Formats: sequence, structure tokens, C-alpha cells
Amino acid sequence: MYVILLGPPGAGKGTQGEILAKRTGLPRVSTGDLLREAVKQGSPLGRKARRYMDQGLLVPDEVIVGLIAEVLERPAAANGVIMDGFPRTVAQAAAVDRLLAGHNATVDHVLSFEVPKEELVRRLLGRAPQEGRSDDTLEAIERRLEVYRKETEPLVAFYQARGVLTAVPGTGTIDTIATRVREAIGE
Ligand code: AMP
Repeated sequence: MYVILLGPPGAGKGTQGEILAKRTGLPRVSTGDLLREAVKQGSPLGRKARRYMDQGLLVPDEVIVGLIAEVLERPAAANGVIMDGFPRTVAQAAAVDRLLAGHNATVDHVLSFEVPKEELVRRLLGRAPQEGRSDDTLEAIERRLEVYRKETEPLVAFYQARGVLTAVPGTGTIDTIATRVREAIGE
């Protein structure tokens, strides 16, 4: 089962992705986590990605598409993946389709987490001291939300047209939201 978690930063994709991964046994893959690891190690990928991430901008598609290919070709991904934070553009969505087609698979479910903007900003600023992320400043947060609206939100209509999208209200307790997720994927 291939599941995409869609939603702005702070919508709870990471938290719900981990719960879903535990329940299904499928790996959760976050391009954000992979990029942060690459930055920490100072790899060529990390060096390329860093300046975009710090500014709250998307890392260019040609870099990310290679990363997505690497992830979806892993043996552990053969039975499915929970995709957290990708695809984020129409070009990345096309790359996911192409790569899954190579496994005779398609995207099964896309969950779109919906949370009001003020709540997102509150959550992101609230978690900033624990996470120590360089992109949790107010300026970068505003930029990331804007980038989501412009570049990623069009994917909601893209997957809706395909009949695989479920909107999931992302407010309430973690358990309540996890139940919505479970229902959305028909478990
Ligand atoms: P995240 O942890 O998903 O919020 O990602 C943190 C940052 O990593 C984003 O603001 C982007 O700069 C970069 N990033 C993560 N995933 C992607 C992606 N699929 N496409 C482009 N940039 C990404």
C-alpha cells in the first residue's frame, strides 16, 4: 500500500505517519528527515539542499526526484511506503507515478491534513525550541506556508481528480486524528 501524507508544515504528518507505520509495518519515509541527515553529514546532497531549507524554500525537483527514486527502489519499499513530505510538486508527483508504475503499483491513498494557519504557526513556533531546526523561525515558517500554498496545494486537486484523496481534519487529539487516518485508508 502506497500512502501519501499531504499537508502544510505543522499539520501532523510526521506524528501520524509514525503511528500509521507502526500499525501497518510499512516504512515511513520523510524527505525532510533524509535531507536534514544529509545536511548534518555534509554530503554533496546536504550541501546543495541546505540553503533552500534554511530559507523555507523547496529543494529543486531535479535533486528531490533522484532522492525519491532512491527511496522507492529500496527493497523495503517493495510492499508499500508511507510518504511524508513528498511529493511536494506536480513534477515530483509525476516521478512517483512513474517509479510506482515500475512496480505495477499506483498511489492508493492520499491524506490531506487540514489545519487552520494560526494553529500551524502556533505549533511550529511551539516545537521550535525542542527541535532545533534552522527553519522554525517565524520568517521561514511564513515562507514555508506560502510555498505550500503555491507549489504543493495544487496536488490536492490533482489527487482528488483521481479519486484517491481524503481530507483529514488535523485538529483534535493525536488519537482522534489517528482514528480518522485509519478510517480514511479503510482499515
Ligand atoms: P519537512 O521536514 O518535510 O518540513 O521539510 C523540511 C524542508 O526540507 C522543506 O522546507 C524543504 O526545504 C525541504 N524538503 C523536504 N521535502 C522536500 C520535497 N519533497 N521537495 C522539496 N523540498 C523538500
